[in-house]
Amino acid sequence: MKKYVVGVDVGGTNIKLGVVDPSGHVIVRNSFATKPFASSRIKLITALSREIEASIVTAGLNKKQIAGVGIGLPGLVDYEKGFVRFLPNIPGWRGVYLKSILQKRINLPVFVDNDVKIITLAESKFGAGRGVRNLICLTLGTGVGAGLILNGQLYRGEDNAAGELGHMPLNEHGPRCNCGGYGCFETYVGNRALLALASRLMGRPGITLEETFTLAQKGNKKALLFWKTAAGHIGNGLVGIVNLLNPHVIIIGGGISHNEKFLFRTIRKTIVSRAMSLQGAAFKIKRAAFKDDAGIIGAYVLVTNAQK
Ligand SMILES: [Zn+2]
Repeated sequence: MKKYVVGVDVGGTNIKLGVVDPSGHVIVRNSFATKPFASSRIKLITALSREIEASIVTAGLNKKQIAGVGIGLPGLVDYEKGFVRFLPNIPGWRGVYLKSILQKRINLPVFVDNDVKIITLAESKFGAGRGVRNLICLTLGTGVGAGLILNGQLYRGEDNAAGELGHMPLNEHGPRCNCGGYGCFETYVGNRALLALASRLMGRPGITLEETFTLAQKGNKKALLFWKTAAGHIGNGLVGIVNLLNPHVIIIGGGISHNEKFLFRTIRKTIVSRAMSLQGAAFKIKRAAFKDDAGIIGAYVLVTNAQK
């Protein structure tokens, strides 16, 4: 019997859930705010159990029809042990055996993983990376992360912590980063850095990235310069990765990725002009195919891969 999967995407602001049918389509969606449950681990685990069970009922299914539950979390997660090491934006989540706790509560197989790895699985199986053996899935936002598919497999690293592209140092004398390092990629292209750059270049403190996008569309020279500078920083950070990993596709997702028009061409040009010639000629840049559903669809891929 082909089975369904419940996918859960835990974010610092919202938690999204969905039931995915055997062909990979989301048939039921639900979401709730994280904050009311963030004060205690048990509250959040209880809310997750309740919502997972409710979504199965809403989909008109019973537990026998569910292959498992896949959960993406924003932080360090030990996929093999089902253990949440640390979630920087949800207090109290350090050292939680989420897999075994939830399995006991809901009596279904549970798989947990880092959220960016789960998004990468979604893009690789059904999205912009379909059929691609070597790809990087870059997510831009407050944090900057990446998932790697190498030789057709998700690359996890020794502790499932590989892919922290945002914390690759680009300047040993650069600004201090939240991770403890200096001059990390994220300190140049994370949202905080981009907002500071926009305020400076536009001469308008507090300007939002959306405003600079609208102004750029109207041909505002300062706004165009801002996006070109941002894209140059992103491209520069990717040069070493292109040389190191020789990817075929770089998928870009996250908050500012909808702004393809002002970003992708400069990112590409920067990489081509700086990367080694063979690697620099081999890659394509694509926008992520999934937005809100990426975490749910990726959770489906996680569960079905684990049960192959
Ligand atoms: Zn860092």
